[in-house]
Amino acid sequence: MGGIAENLETVRARIAAACARAGRAPESVRLLAVSKTHGPEAVRAAAAAGQRLFGENRVQEAAAKIPECPGQLEWHLIGPLQSNKAAQAARLFDWVHSVDSAKRLEALDRQAADAGRHLRARVQVNVSGERSKSGLAPEAVLEVLALADRLRNVQICGLMTIPPLAEDPETARPHFRKLRELRDAWAAETGLDLTELSMGMTHDLDVAIAEGATFVRVGTGIFGTRARPAEGAEET
Ligand SMILES: *Cc1c(COP(=O)(O)O)cnc(C)c1O
Repeated sequence: MGGIAENLETVRARIAAACARAGRAPESVRLLAVSKTHGPEAVRAAAAAGQRLFGENRVQEAAAKIPECPGQLEWHLIGPLQSNKAAQAARLFDWVHSVDSAKRLEALDRQAADAGRHLRARVQVNVSGERSKSGLAPEAVLEVLALADRLRNVQICGLMTIPPLAEDPETARPHFRKLRELRDAWAAETGLDLTELSMGMTHDLDVAIAEGATFVRVGTGIFGTRARPAEGAEET
């Protein structure tokens, strides 16, 4: 694994190639650099190489890190949001990818209003129905989308999913495809603009782009292996 700037180049080339294969415009996919477990110096190195969007999965860790990072970066929460962290999250983040309950979405909206901030959100869907995975069961999503009209400071822009971990990235394809199909159905049913699909990580971003991802969340591919053991997509 090379340096951060070099890794970013490699990931950007992968995104461009996947877009070309899918007949998509390269700017239709945005790269989110997942900096969890890495310090502000890693964020600064990526920012110096032109990266602007960063993802964190823990509010606490982000609260310590973000003030140490350059301004003008856009921060995305990609890990579970607890109601008692909603105030902090509303101040720190521009996007929340991991909305998984009506109650927490309403708490986030209240806190965003108090903080005078406008946030964009995605509802995290547990497409696979796997028990260990976070996110809402597909049957529970419409109830959360129905809140959209009542929210003042949070705009629901799409969906996010984390497929079950598997060696072969092709294993993730049906999950990505299913998220896109659910999105199409729910957008038609609710009239909401659910354009944004947050799906794909280091090992399966190419497949995710082929299936319609608009945000890919890449950690290891940019920053290298995470030192903290057992760190993963599911950790809170
Ligand atoms: C850590 C994490 C990622 C990045 O995973 P890599 O395999 O390191 O690219 C993406 N999404 C979520 C939700 C994560 O927690």
